[in-house]
Amino acid sequence: MGYILIKNGNVISDGKIQNKSILIKDSIIYDTDYKGDVPENCDIIDATDRYVSPGFVDIHLHGGGGFDFMDCTKEAFEAISRVHLENGTTTAVPTAVSSEMSAILKLIDTFKECREECPNFYGIHLEGPFISKNQKGAHKEHLLHSPTDEEIELLVSHGKGVIKRITAAPELSNMDSFANKMLENGISLAVGHSDATSDEAMDAFRNGFSHVTHLYSATPSVRKINQVIKAGVVEAAYLDDNVTVELIADGKHVAVDALRLALKIKGTDKVAFVSDALRPAGTDVNESYLGEICPENRVIVEDGVAKLPDRSSFAGSIATGIMLLEKGVNHYGLSLCDTVKMLTETPAKILGIGNIGKIEKSFVADIVVFNSEYRIENVISKGKKVKQRGTKR
Ligand SMILES: [Zn+2]
Repeated sequence: MGYILIKNGNVISDGKIQNKSILIKDSIIYDTDYKGDVPENCDIIDATDRYVSPGFVDIHLHGGGGFDFMDCTKEAFEAISRVHLENGTTTAVPTAVSSEMSAILKLIDTFKECREECPNFYGIHLEGPFISKNQKGAHKEHLLHSPTDEEIELLVSHGKGVIKRITAAPELSNMDSFANKMLENGISLAVGHSDATSDEAMDAFRNGFSHVTHLYSATPSVRKINQVIKAGVVEAAYLDDNVTVELIADGKHVAVDALRLALKIKGTDKVAFVSDALRPAGTDVNESYLGEICPENRVIVEDGVAKLPDRSSFAGSIATGIMLLEKGVNHYGLSLCDTVKMLTETPAKILGIGNIGKIEKSFVADIVVFNSEYRIENVISKGKKVKQRGTKR
């Protein structure tokens, strides 16, 4: 593969922006401040007046480019991989909306078939079906239930090495046995779409749940139960310093002050930005579907978000990595360094991947080059150029 020299860019990593040149050798970052001669067999990217950041890490997304992971086809996987790569996401966690077990097994099989072609897919995230009917959001109620022993066995045997994270409601029955089995098999657990009180959520954190899925969305906050003001999942996440959270920071789902509050309490080390992107992400359609393509799943896309056809509620996001970056700075008023961190280093840590998310020697060469208007010019995935200035989209 040879060398790539990213010359003279404003490199964002580790909370700093520094003007320097990065040398990539094969799939690895070889030197983070290269001053030598241009090596032989070297591709040069002139990054003068551009920003150079680690590739984005999106731990929660359902689709893009007109496809949803639940389409369970190679074509869908490749298109979603491509559209998010081109928008800077070099590590993505394909997420399954609550589905029948047969569809989940099919998704796992498709993932295994597409590993080569989709270099940015890390592993699967199951968002349900073991979630609360009271906090179902856009999930289909009839599919939601407590995990059975048979399902637990099936997920472990079939999903080994592929399922990386599961979002569940810890207040459901049989959850202790479920949680033990998943944690034993290296699957991380998040509280989400849950109606838990803070007591129940704190118990879950003690039992190995370590994260909260899209904080504020389908997670209760303070409310009155039998005359008593009870804290909810949100406050439990705030009270436990070890717990990490994710926010759909698309400028639509979470208002500025709600995001600022989460950051004030948790800090940039514990907050990851996610897209939770649906099928229409990365396209310019104004009509699409939430999950499976059928008339009852129709959604409209307007004002940068997917909505139910009667506009009564958001149906999901159409964000991509670079859109989240732009919103972090322009909508939420965060610094470029903080925004990049919550799109790279922090989610990489949440996934437990030690060699991505920073521009550091020996790290994987996942790199994004963008201009001051947040337009992507180059994307490098594992040392390979996937997008170049001037190419379409
Ligand atoms: Zn989701």
